[in-house]
Amino acid sequence: MTIAARPWLDEIQAYRPGTRSASADGSMASNESPLGASPKLGDSIVKALAGVHRYPDPLADELRSELAGLHGVHPEQILIGNGSDELIFLLSTTFLAQGGHAVCADPAYQIDRIGALSVNATITQVPLRDWKHDLAAMAALRADIAYIVNPHNPTGTTRSRAEIDTFTAESPARLVVVDEAYIDFTTDPEALTAIPLVAGGRVAVLRTFSKIHGLAGLRVGYLVADSAIIAAIRKVRAPFSVGSLAQAAALAALADTGHREAVREHTLRLRGQLVDLLACHGLHAVDSEANFVLLPVPDENAFVAGLRTHGVSVRPGSALGAPGTVRISVPTEAGLELLRSALHHTHPANHRETANHR
Ligand SMILES: *Cc1c(COP(=O)(O)O)cnc(C)c1O
Repeated sequence: MTIAARPWLDEIQAYRPGTRSASADGSMASNESPLGASPKLGDSIVKALAGVHRYPDPLADELRSELAGLHGVHPEQILIGNGSDELIFLLSTTFLAQGGHAVCADPAYQIDRIGALSVNATITQVPLRDWKHDLAAMAALRADIAYIVNPHNPTGTTRSRAEIDTFTAESPARLVVVDEAYIDFTTDPEALTAIPLVAGGRVAVLRTFSKIHGLAGLRVGYLVADSAIIAAIRKVRAPFSVGSLAQAAALAALADTGHREAVREHTLRLRGQLVDLLACHGLHAVDSEANFVLLPVPDENAFVAGLRTHGVSVRPGSALGAPGTVRISVPTEAGLELLRSALHHTHPANHRETANHR
């Protein structure tokens, strides 16, 4: 016997996660932190272990007030989630369910799409222009939520705060959600972030501990928004979705600004080296401000398979809505050497370009 799922779910293809290679260094498919999490988390997690028989603090008050201080907002303007992905699903339930309409870029961040379709909303994807969000075209569409991913995934491109401000003024969208998962890897995160626009009431900003903080396995993200938006979402959230070990780790990670700076410095330096290495093989990545680059390639499947035989896993673009490309996360130093030797075997040509790029 098969039990039919709700009919609008037919449109959804299950999320396809990145695959790991045999080694951690060779795994470049999921934009994880190449330097790992802060080495100072251990003590906090061990301490929190003593309380795991109790339910966690439902709103993660300590973390919430730290983040409120950091961003200069009120704690009631912050909601912590089980990764920002949970918050995207909650935004869908709260503002899109049963016939709502979302607008986003094409390619979209896949969770924005799945979240909207899961609650029987429609979603309009607006093709990128020069690999960036086409905000003018997006602003012409009515929407309950307009999603802007900044820097974008899978391209790594950005739009300025002024551009997002103009978009918010011009767009009829009820709510503008700006996903800033990768903002720490931009040249000037403070100039770029849309958090100052939250005060206007229609902009909500998503952040995560999965990228620069290296806590992808613990699942912590947060939303900064008007307190009325947060209050509406709180009605439908699972009260204990963020575990106590995750809360303790996030607090400790937040305190380790030195580790964050080291991850940022590593990422910017290795991103440059990654782009140069690819160029040596005649491969030209889209200009990225994130911890990954998107690379248009003639044969996506052959490219992914070729690297895999040499111990390197990257993400096929068709899993990200961008066929004809691959996405490569900024690796460790050892990972870059793995990629160098893999490309030496799979893309041996272009010696002339090699000379030009030295
Ligand atoms: C990685 C990523 C996130 C983070 O998701 P979590 O659920 O917090 O791990 C959010 N948005 C985008 C666009 C991402 O690429």
